Amino acid sequence: MRQRPYVRRHFLSLLGSVGLAMIAPPASSARDLGERYVCTNDECTPYYYDPRLGDPDQDVAPGTRFEDLPRDWICPVCGWTQSKFVPESQYQP
Ligand SMILES: [Zn+2]
Repeated sequence: MRQRPYVRRHFLSLLGSVGLAMIAPPASSARDLGERYVCTNDECTPYYYDPRLGDPDQDVAPGTRFEDLPRDWICPVCGWTQSKFVPESQYQP
């Protein structure tokens, strides 16, 4: 019986750690949006499509994944289509 209070306290502190761990990573929402995409046109800036920013000029709300862009969305800098874009991690200038 003397052990019970200790076990209970330990359990609670364990719960506390788990709760903190679930709150801790702020990167999860950014990862859900996917990575940035780059226009591969040499003469483009190049333009980066950032899902967190969207493209207000073409009515694309912030938080829109590249995969979820409207079919008629084009590079706002040079006008190339989405098929000319590559994920930032695969981009080779
Ligand atoms: Zn472009």
